[in-house]
Amino acid sequence: MRTIGLLGGMSWESSIEYERLINTEVRRRLGGTHSASLVIRSYDFATIEALQQAGDWDAAGALLATDARRLVDAGAEILVLCTNTMHRVAATITAAVDVPFLHLADVTARAVLEAGIERVGLLGTRYTMEQPFLRERLAEHGLTVIVPDEPDRTLVHDIIFEELVQGRLLDASRRAYLEVIERLVDRGAGGIIAGCTEIELLVGADDLADIAGTAGSTGIAGTAGSTGIAWFPTTRLHALAAVDAALAPDPPPA
Ligand code: GLU
Repeated sequence: MRTIGLLGGMSWESSIEYERLINTEVRRRLGGTHSASLVIRSYDFATIEALQQAGDWDAAGALLATDARRLVDAGAEILVLCTNTMHRVAATITAAVDVPFLHLADVTARAVLEAGIERVGLLGTRYTMEQPFLRERLAEHGLTVIVPDEPDRTLVHDIIFEELVQGRLLDASRRAYLEVIERLVDRGAGGIIAGCTEIELLVGADDLADIAGTAGSTGIAGTAGSTGIAWFPTTRLHALAAVDAALAPDPPPA
């Protein structure tokens, strides 16, 4: 089993989900007392948030690249960046290390395509919804990506920073997200990417069961058997892909 390096704490509310999902899946596959082999760098999220707000992506990239190297020095054979937003600096990280980096957009795009969906809605931070780094990477796989209009983008972003990364899960916010999702479905989204690692703490596939998918989708494996619009929870997809990579006979391509 390969050692997985997690760049986490962005926020820890979701990176503990990565840890839980990865360990649970390793136990399910290997049984007995097996658990994952992990090395973890978990940040004070306020530091990361300040760099985002300042638009200082160079400093953020340098920080993450330095720690990616440290994880490799500590034994990481695969790297997982536990946030959609910070994939903004994925190229800086991959340039700094020579182990495989499991890009979240590639993992997610494969799941969307496997579900037979081409037009997909993307929820995330303002950075993720408005900047090209994730949308273009998804589009490279052949997907058409739509994001909420304003004021929905502001609502989705504010709930992430004012509630979800602070561990606050509110029913009113779940309802508000479901309304945003309905508007994306009305615009032709055949599935929805929870493109922020905390969103799936608030909204689950079952919450979407009443929203009819235009693609007649029945949800995807691992999303709790929803019969509504297909739901692509990036933490879960990314964590399970990390286990695939850790247990594969051959190492994933760098
Ligand atoms: N975890 C979130 C994401 O997946 C947001 C926190 C951050 O800005 O890194 O984008």
